[in-house]
Amino acid sequence: MSQFTILVVEDEEAIRSMLVMVLRQYDFNVLEAGDVMQAQSLLEDGLPDLILLDWMLPSINGDEWTRRLKSNESYRDIPIILVTAKGEETDKIRGLDLGADDYITKPFSPKELISRIKAVLRRSGKIHDLTQIKFRDIILDTEQHRVSIADKQIEVSPTEFRLLSFFLTHPDKVYNRTQLLDQVWGRSVYIEERTVDVHIRRLRKILANYEREEWLQTVRGFGYRFSEKVGS
Ligand code: CA
Repeated sequence: MSQFTILVVEDEEAIRSMLVMVLRQYDFNVLEAGDVMQAQSLLEDGLPDLILLDWMLPSINGDEWTRRLKSNESYRDIPIILVTAKGEETDKIRGLDLGADDYITKPFSPKELISRIKAVLRRSGKIHDLTQIKFRDIILDTEQHRVSIADKQIEVSPTEFRLLSFFLTHPDKVYNRTQLLDQVWGRSVYIEERTVDVHIRRLRKILANYEREEWLQTVRGFGYRFSEKVGS
């Protein structure tokens, strides 16, 4: 989801760092601000895809900033999720009245936060389907674990799926076997590096059926790279 940028506005540093960490884990780009003034100046450098906005902030509160953003033509399309403290039922209703796209009540789990964000991004039309990873005519559906190449559904094992998914989201970079093991199999699993080669060969075989095997490249002495730029 690294194509999406989320602006986190929260004055409590511990909570802000936690939010930033969670969002980064889910591969969002994150901007952070401790108050509305800071947040406002970040908007001048470019609009985020979503604002996660704490209700209680010093000087200008989240609800007031929501009202201002939603009445400003340049900013009103930025989806806002208001973060409220427990039990402030009237605040929630007020927030939505002011134009916030959703609210979430503290304390919340990372899982809840991410699913709210995805839902708002989906509703706002920013994404057609967040569960899809696309690279040219290769499409991975991360929810249904399906792969299609050139509109044809293909069968891949769970490992090949994860490997392909990693490559499609990290194109043009070279990864050695150790890095691929860490990223695709996970650090806690002990697997021989040769296993990587085996799965790369299988994946290349699948891609070869669609004449895409040249995209999965061996970089001699280093590792592997997924790129449509052949021969570089
Ligand atoms: Ca606060």
